[in-house]
Amino acid sequence: MQDKLTLMIPGPTPVPETVLKAFGRHPIGHRSGEFQQIVRRTTEKLKWLHQTSSDVLVITGSGTAAMEAGIINTLCRGDRVLCGNNGKFGERWVKLARAYGLEVEEVTAEWGQPLDPDAFRRALEADADRSIRAVILTHSETSTGVINDLEAIAAHVRAHGTALLIVDCVTSLGACNVPMDDWGLDVVGSGSQKGYMMPPGLSFVAMSERAWQAYDRSDLPRFYLDLGPYRKTAAKDSNPFTPAVNLYFALDEALTLMQQEGLEAIFDRHARHRAAAEAGMKAIGLPLFAAEGHGSPAITAVAPDGIDAEAVRKAVKQHYDILLAGGQDQLKGKVFRIGHLGFVCDRDVLTAVAAIEATLRRMGRIDAAPGAGVAAAAAVLGG
Ligand SMILES: *Cc1c(COP(=O)(O)O)cnc(C)c1O
Repeated sequence: MQDKLTLMIPGPTPVPETVLKAFGRHPIGHRSGEFQQIVRRTTEKLKWLHQTSSDVLVITGSGTAAMEAGIINTLCRGDRVLCGNNGKFGERWVKLARAYGLEVEEVTAEWGQPLDPDAFRRALEADADRSIRAVILTHSETSTGVINDLEAIAAHVRAHGTALLIVDCVTSLGACNVPMDDWGLDVVGSGSQKGYMMPPGLSFVAMSERAWQAYDRSDLPRFYLDLGPYRKTAAKDSNPFTPAVNLYFALDEALTLMQQEGLEAIFDRHARHRAAAEAGMKAIGLPLFAAEGHGSPAITAVAPDGIDAEAVRKAVKQHYDILLAGGQDQLKGKVFRIGHLGFVCDRDVLTAVAAIEATLRRMGRIDAAPGAGVAAAAAVLGG
Protein backbone atom coordinates (compact mmCIF):
# COMPACT_ATOMS: atom_id res chain seq x y z
CA MET A 1 0.00 0.00 0.00
CA GLN A 2 1.33 3.40 -0.92
CA ASP A 3 1.22 6.88 0.59
CA LYS A 4 0.42 6.05 4.18
CA LEU A 5 3.87 6.96 5.45
CA THR A 6 3.85 8.25 9.00
CA LEU A 7 6.92 10.33 9.76
CA MET A 8 8.14 9.92 13.30
CA ILE A 9 11.62 11.23 12.82
CA PRO A 10 12.89 14.49 14.31
CA GLY A 11 12.58 16.35 11.03
CA PRO A 12 11.21 16.54 8.50
CA THR A 13 8.06 16.28 10.58
CA PRO A 14 4.44 15.89 9.34
CA VAL A 15 2.81 18.92 7.74
CA PRO A 16 -0.88 19.86 8.23
CA GLU A 17 -3.12 19.95 5.18
CA THR A 18 -3.74 23.72 5.34
CA VAL A 19 0.00 24.39 5.51
CA LEU A 20 0.55 22.23 2.41
CA LYS A 21 -2.25 24.08 0.64
CA ALA A 22 -0.76 27.44 1.52
CA PHE A 23 2.60 26.23 0.21
CA GLY A 24 0.98 25.10 -3.06
CA ARG A 25 -0.16 28.58 -4.15
CA HIS A 26 1.40 30.31 -7.13
CA PRO A 27 4.43 32.32 -6.04
CA ILE A 28 4.03 36.11 -5.87
CA GLY A 29 6.63 38.85 -6.27
CA HIS A 30 8.83 39.13 -3.21
CA ARG A 31 8.88 42.93 -3.48
CA SER A 32 5.08 43.19 -3.70
CA GLY A 33 2.89 44.81 -1.08
CA GLU A 34 1.14 41.50 -0.50
CA PHE A 35 4.41 39.79 0.29
CA GLN A 36 5.42 42.63 2.61
CA GLN A 37 2.23 42.01 4.56
CA ILE A 38 3.19 38.36 4.93
CA VAL A 39 6.68 39.27 6.14
CA ARG A 40 5.20 41.68 8.67
CA ARG A 41 2.67 39.14 9.97
CA THR A 42 5.10 36.26 10.18
CA THR A 43 7.71 38.41 11.94
CA GLU A 44 5.19 39.31 14.64
CA LYS A 45 4.15 35.68 15.04
CA LEU A 46 7.78 34.54 15.20
CA LYS A 47 8.38 36.97 18.06
CA TRP A 48 5.37 35.47 19.81
CA LEU A 49 6.79 31.95 19.38
CA HIS A 50 10.20 33.02 20.69
CA GLN A 51 8.60 35.06 23.52
CA THR A 52 10.80 37.98 22.60
CA SER A 53 10.71 41.59 21.53
CA SER A 54 14.03 41.13 19.70
CA ASP A 55 14.49 40.56 15.98
CA VAL A 56 13.73 37.14 14.57
CA LEU A 57 15.24 36.86 11.08
CA VAL A 58 14.33 34.35 8.40
CA ILE A 59 17.03 32.72 6.27
CA THR A 60 16.59 30.32 3.37
CA GLY A 61 18.47 27.29 4.62
CA SER A 62 18.29 24.49 7.16
CA GLY A 63 18.74 24.85 10.91
CA THR A 64 22.51 24.76 10.64
CA ALA A 65 22.43 28.01 8.64
CA ALA A 66 20.73 29.75 11.57
CA MET A 67 23.38 28.52 14.01
CA GLU A 68 26.21 29.40 11.66
CA ALA A 69 24.74 32.88 11.18
CA GLY A 70 24.41 33.37 14.94
CA ILE A 71 28.03 32.42 15.53
CA ILE A 72 29.71 34.30 12.68
CA ASN A 73 27.73 37.49 13.28
CA THR A 74 28.65 37.85 16.94
CA LEU A 75 32.24 36.62 17.33
CA CYS A 76 35.80 37.37 16.22
CA ARG A 77 38.62 35.15 15.06
CA GLY A 78 40.42 33.75 18.10
CA ASP A 79 37.56 34.43 20.53
CA ARG A 80 37.29 31.98 23.41
CA VAL A 81 34.00 30.10 23.47
CA LEU A 82 32.58 27.41 25.71
CA CYS A 83 30.72 24.70 23.78
CA GLY A 84 28.35 22.24 25.42
CA ASN A 85 28.79 18.83 23.84
CA ASN A 86 26.70 15.80 24.78
CA GLY A 87 25.76 14.48 21.37
CA LYS A 88 25.93 14.81 17.62
CA PHE A 89 24.65 18.39 17.47
CA GLY A 90 26.92 19.55 20.27
CA GLU A 91 29.76 18.09 18.21
CA ARG A 92 28.57 20.01 15.17
CA TRP A 93 28.79 23.38 16.92
CA VAL A 94 32.28 22.56 18.16
CA LYS A 95 33.33 21.81 14.57
CA LEU A 96 31.62 24.89 13.21
CA ALA A 97 33.25 27.16 15.78
CA ARG A 98 36.69 25.67 15.05
CA ALA A 99 36.13 26.05 11.31
CA TYR A 100 35.89 29.81 11.90
CA GLY A 101 39.04 29.93 14.00
CA LEU A 102 37.40 30.25 17.41
CA GLU A 103 39.21 28.93 20.44
CA VAL A 104 36.85 26.25 21.71
CA GLU A 105 36.69 24.73 25.16
CA GLU A 106 34.19 21.94 25.58
CA VAL A 107 31.87 21.15 28.43
CA THR A 108 31.01 17.53 27.79
CA ALA A 109 28.69 14.90 29.14
CA GLU A 110 28.37 11.31 28.07
CA TRP A 111 25.83 10.67 25.33
CA GLY A 112 22.49 10.07 27.06
CA GLN A 113 23.36 12.35 29.99
CA PRO A 114 22.41 16.01 30.25
CA LEU A 115 25.04 18.75 30.42
CA ASP A 116 25.81 19.73 34.01
CA PRO A 117 24.89 23.41 34.59
CA ASP A 118 27.46 23.50 37.41
CA ALA A 119 30.24 22.67 34.96
CA PHE A 120 29.32 25.86 33.07
CA ARG A 121 29.17 27.81 36.31
CA ARG A 122 32.65 26.63 37.31
CA ALA A 123 34.19 27.40 33.91
CA LEU A 124 32.56 30.85 33.81
CA GLU A 125 33.53 31.72 37.40
CA ALA A 126 37.11 30.66 36.70
CA ASP A 127 37.25 33.14 33.83
CA ALA A 128 38.55 36.01 35.97
CA ASP A 129 39.43 38.34 33.07
CA ARG A 130 36.11 37.66 31.34
CA SER A 131 37.68 36.45 28.12
CA ILE A 132 35.00 33.88 27.30
CA ARG A 133 32.96 35.54 24.59
CA ALA A 134 30.17 33.02 24.16
CA VAL A 135 28.59 29.86 25.44
CA ILE A 136 27.22 27.71 22.64
CA LEU A 137 24.96 24.76 23.29
CA THR A 138 22.08 22.59 22.13
CA HIS A 139 18.88 22.77 24.16
CA SER A 140 17.28 19.53 22.97
CA GLU A 141 20.05 17.14 21.86
CA THR A 142 18.17 15.27 19.17
CA SER A 143 20.78 12.55 18.68
CA THR A 144 20.38 11.21 22.21
CA GLY A 145 16.88 12.43 23.11
CA VAL A 146 18.19 14.53 26.01
CA ILE A 147 16.92 17.95 27.04
CA ASN A 148 19.58 20.15 28.64
CA ASP A 149 18.76 22.51 31.51
CA LEU A 150 18.98 25.71 29.50
CA GLU A 151 17.34 27.88 32.14
CA ALA A 152 19.99 27.00 34.74
CA ILE A 153 22.86 27.37 32.29
CA ALA A 154 21.47 30.71 31.09
CA ALA A 155 21.49 32.04 34.66
CA HIS A 156 25.21 31.21 34.95
CA VAL A 157 25.96 32.91 31.65
CA ARG A 158 24.10 36.04 32.77
CA ALA A 159 26.08 36.05 36.01
CA HIS A 160 29.32 36.01 33.97
CA GLY A 161 28.22 39.28 32.42
CA THR A 162 30.25 39.23 29.20
CA ALA A 163 29.63 35.96 27.41
CA LEU A 164 26.79 35.69 24.93
CA LEU A 165 24.50 32.66 25.01
CA ILE A 166 24.03 31.10 21.58
CA VAL A 167 21.54 28.25 21.59
CA ASP A 168 20.44 25.58 19.15
CA CYS A 169 16.71 25.42 19.90
CA VAL A 170 15.97 23.48 16.73
CA THR A 171 14.02 20.71 18.48
CA SER A 172 12.96 22.62 21.58
CA LEU A 173 11.29 25.68 20.08
CA GLY A 174 7.64 24.81 19.59
CA ALA A 175 7.99 21.75 21.83
CA CYS A 176 8.70 23.23 25.24
CA ASN A 177 9.10 26.59 26.89
CA VAL A 178 11.94 28.70 25.42
CA PRO A 179 11.25 32.20 26.74
CA MET A 180 14.09 34.03 25.03
CA ASP A 181 13.75 37.34 26.90
CA ASP A 182 12.96 35.86 30.33
CA TRP A 183 15.96 33.55 30.25
CA GLY A 184 18.23 36.10 28.60
CA LEU A 185 19.14 34.06 25.53
CA ASP A 186 21.15 36.06 22.99
CA VAL A 187 20.93 33.96 19.86
CA VAL A 188 18.25 31.34 19.24
CA GLY A 189 18.48 29.18 16.12
CA SER A 190 15.73 26.95 14.71
CA GLY A 191 14.53 25.35 11.48
CA SER A 192 11.19 24.98 9.71
CA GLN A 193 11.15 21.18 9.38
CA LYS A 194 11.00 20.65 13.14
CA GLY A 195 8.48 22.14 15.58
CA TYR A 196 7.11 24.53 12.96
CA MET A 197 5.10 21.79 11.18
CA MET A 198 6.54 22.87 7.83
CA PRO A 199 8.64 21.38 5.08
CA PRO A 200 12.43 21.95 5.31
CA GLY A 201 13.92 25.11 3.85
CA LEU A 202 13.62 28.01 6.28
CA SER A 203 15.76 28.72 9.28
CA PHE A 204 15.25 31.31 11.95
CA VAL A 205 17.74 33.25 14.01
CA ALA A 206 16.65 35.47 16.85
CA MET A 207 19.16 38.10 18.02
CA SER A 208 19.08 39.98 21.33
CA GLU A 209 20.25 43.59 21.66
CA ARG A 210 23.47 42.30 23.24
CA ALA A 211 23.98 40.07 20.23
CA TRP A 212 23.66 43.11 17.96
CA GLN A 213 26.26 44.96 20.01
CA ALA A 214 28.56 41.99 19.48
CA TYR A 215 27.74 42.14 15.76
CA ASP A 216 29.38 45.55 15.58
CA ARG A 217 32.72 44.21 16.82
CA SER A 218 32.54 40.82 15.09
CA ASP A 219 35.02 40.27 12.26
CA LEU A 220 34.38 36.76 10.94
CA PRO A 221 33.97 36.42 7.15
CA ARG A 222 30.38 36.36 5.91
CA PHE A 223 28.27 37.48 3.04
CA TYR A 224 25.03 35.56 2.43
CA LEU A 225 24.68 35.01 6.15
CA ASP A 226 25.58 38.57 7.15
CA LEU A 227 22.63 39.39 9.42
CA GLY A 228 23.05 43.16 9.09
CA PRO A 229 21.20 43.32 5.76
CA TYR A 230 18.56 40.90 7.09
CA ARG A 231 17.87 43.24 9.99
CA LYS A 232 17.82 46.32 7.81
CA THR A 233 15.39 44.85 5.28
CA ALA A 234 13.25 43.19 7.97
CA ALA A 235 12.58 46.68 9.35
CA LYS A 236 10.97 47.37 5.97
CA ASP A 237 9.13 44.03 5.90
CA SER A 238 11.47 42.69 3.28
CA ASN A 239 14.48 40.43 2.72
CA PRO A 240 17.97 41.03 1.36
CA PHE A 241 17.73 38.26 -1.27
CA THR A 242 14.92 36.34 -2.96
CA PRO A 243 13.21 34.59 -0.06
CA ALA A 244 11.56 31.16 -0.34
CA VAL A 245 8.22 32.79 -1.11
CA ASN A 246 6.10 29.64 -0.89
CA LEU A 247 7.69 28.61 2.38
CA TYR A 248 6.63 32.01 3.72
CA PHE A 249 3.03 31.17 2.78
CA ALA A 250 3.42 27.93 4.70
CA LEU A 251 5.03 29.75 7.64
CA ASP A 252 2.17 32.23 7.84
CA GLU A 253 -0.35 29.39 8.07
CA ALA A 254 1.72 27.18 10.40
CA LEU A 255 2.23 30.01 12.88
CA THR A 256 -1.49 30.80 12.77
CA LEU A 257 -2.21 27.17 13.67
CA MET A 258 0.26 27.40 16.53
CA GLN A 259 -1.35 30.57 17.83
CA GLN A 260 -4.78 28.95 17.66
CA GLU A 261 -3.52 26.05 19.76
CA GLY A 262 -1.60 28.31 22.16
CA LEU A 263 1.90 27.93 23.57
CA GLU A 264 0.85 26.23 26.81
CA ALA A 265 -1.29 23.68 24.97
CA ILE A 266 1.55 22.96 22.52
CA PHE A 267 4.01 22.40 25.37
CA ASP A 268 1.50 20.21 27.25
CA ARG A 269 0.91 18.09 24.16
CA HIS A 270 4.62 17.47 23.67
CA ALA A 271 5.12 16.67 27.35
CA ARG A 272 2.23 14.17 27.23
CA HIS A 273 3.61 12.53 24.10
CA ARG A 274 7.02 12.18 25.68
CA ALA A 275 5.45 10.62 28.77
CA ALA A 276 3.30 8.27 26.67
CA ALA A 277 6.21 7.14 24.49
CA GLU A 278 8.40 6.58 27.54
CA ALA A 279 5.71 4.66 29.42
CA GLY A 280 4.93 2.54 26.37
CA MET A 281 8.55 1.56 25.83
CA LYS A 282 9.19 0.78 29.50
CA ALA A 283 6.07 -1.40 29.62
CA ILE A 284 7.41 -3.62 26.85
CA GLY A 285 10.81 -3.92 28.48
CA LEU A 286 12.72 -1.46 26.30
CA PRO A 287 15.05 0.84 28.23
CA LEU A 288 15.26 4.53 27.38
CA PHE A 289 18.58 5.95 26.29
CA ALA A 290 18.26 9.37 27.93
CA ALA A 291 18.89 9.56 31.65
CA GLU A 292 15.65 9.29 33.67
CA GLY A 293 13.87 12.62 33.90
CA HIS A 294 15.92 14.25 31.13
CA GLY A 295 14.03 13.04 28.06
CA SER A 296 13.40 15.57 25.29
CA PRO A 297 9.78 16.55 24.57
CA ALA A 298 10.62 16.22 20.87
CA ILE A 299 12.09 12.76 20.70
CA THR A 300 12.41 9.57 22.71
CA ALA A 301 15.55 7.50 22.19
CA VAL A 302 15.14 3.80 22.96
CA ALA A 303 18.05 1.43 23.60
CA PRO A 304 16.77 -2.15 23.37
CA ASP A 305 19.06 -4.39 25.37
CA GLY A 306 20.50 -7.18 23.23
CA ILE A 307 18.20 -6.46 20.29
CA ASP A 308 19.38 -4.89 17.04
CA ALA A 309 17.69 -1.48 17.15
CA GLU A 310 18.17 -1.03 13.43
CA ALA A 311 16.31 -4.30 12.75
CA VAL A 312 13.38 -3.06 14.85
CA ARG A 313 13.36 0.25 13.04
CA LYS A 314 13.43 -1.40 9.61
CA ALA A 315 10.67 -3.87 10.48
CA VAL A 316 8.44 -1.07 11.78
CA LYS A 317 8.93 0.71 8.47
CA GLN A 318 8.38 -2.42 6.39
CA HIS A 319 5.25 -3.68 8.14
CA TYR A 320 3.62 -0.48 9.35
CA ASP A 321 5.09 2.28 7.18
CA ILE A 322 6.06 4.27 10.24
CA LEU A 323 9.46 5.88 9.86
CA LEU A 324 11.44 5.99 13.09
CA ALA A 325 14.92 7.47 13.31
CA GLY A 326 18.00 5.32 13.82
CA GLY A 327 21.02 5.84 16.01
CA GLN A 328 23.87 8.01 14.77
CA ASP A 329 27.60 7.21 14.93
CA GLN A 330 28.37 4.99 17.93
CA LEU A 331 24.63 4.60 18.57
CA LYS A 332 23.96 2.98 15.19
CA GLY A 333 22.19 -0.35 15.77
CA LYS A 334 21.98 0.38 19.50
CA VAL A 335 19.26 3.00 19.50
CA PHE A 336 16.11 3.88 17.61
CA ARG A 337 14.32 7.15 18.15
CA ILE A 338 10.62 8.01 18.14
CA GLY A 339 10.07 11.56 16.95
CA HIS A 340 7.01 13.26 18.47
CA LEU A 341 7.70 16.82 17.40
CA GLY A 342 5.38 19.23 15.66
CA PHE A 343 2.17 18.07 14.03
CA VAL A 344 1.77 14.92 16.10
CA CYS A 345 -1.42 13.75 17.78
CA ASP A 346 -2.20 11.12 20.44
CA ARG A 347 -3.10 8.61 17.74
CA ASP A 348 0.36 8.87 16.17
CA VAL A 349 2.05 8.08 19.46
CA LEU A 350 -0.31 5.21 20.30
CA THR A 351 0.16 3.76 16.84
CA ALA A 352 3.94 3.97 17.04
CA VAL A 353 3.97 2.23 20.41
CA ALA A 354 1.62 -0.46 19.07
CA ALA A 355 3.75 -0.97 15.96
CA ILE A 356 6.95 -1.30 17.97
CA GLU A 357 5.25 -3.71 20.36
CA ALA A 358 3.89 -5.83 17.50
CA THR A 359 7.30 -5.83 15.83
CA LEU A 360 9.01 -7.17 18.95
CA ARG A 361 6.39 -9.89 19.13
CA ARG A 362 6.98 -10.75 15.49
CA MET A 363 10.71 -10.98 16.29
CA GLY A 364 9.95 -13.14 19.34
CA ARG A 365 11.69 -10.62 21.55
CA ILE A 366 9.03 -9.61 24.05
CA ASP A 367 8.01 -10.91 27.45
CA ALA A 368 5.33 -8.37 28.27
CA ALA A 369 1.65 -9.30 28.05
CA PRO A 370 -0.02 -8.47 24.73
CA GLY A 371 -1.04 -4.82 24.63
CA ALA A 372 1.07 -3.82 27.64
CA GLY A 373 2.82 -0.98 25.79
CA VAL A 374 -0.36 0.42 24.31
CA ALA A 375 -2.12 0.20 27.67
CA ALA A 376 0.66 2.12 29.38
CA ALA A 377 0.77 4.80 26.69
CA ALA A 378 -3.02 5.10 26.59
CA ALA A 379 -3.13 5.49 30.37
CA VAL A 380 -0.82 8.51 30.08
CA LEU A 381 -2.92 9.96 27.28
CA GLY A 382 -6.08 9.55 29.34
CA GLY A 383 -7.37 6.42 27.61
C1 LIG B 1 17.71 18.97 12.93
C2 LIG B 1 18.61 19.66 13.90
C3 LIG B 1 19.45 20.70 13.50
C4 LIG B 1 19.49 21.27 12.15
O1 LIG B 1 19.87 20.42 11.18
P1 LIG B 1 19.66 20.85 9.68
O2 LIG B 1 19.82 19.55 8.97
O3 LIG B 1 20.70 21.84 9.36
O4 LIG B 1 18.28 21.44 9.60
C5 LIG B 1 20.21 21.32 14.47
N1 LIG B 1 20.16 20.95 15.74
C6 LIG B 1 19.35 19.97 16.17
C7 LIG B 1 19.34 19.65 17.62
C8 LIG B 1 18.55 19.29 15.26
O5 LIG B 1 17.74 18.33 15.69
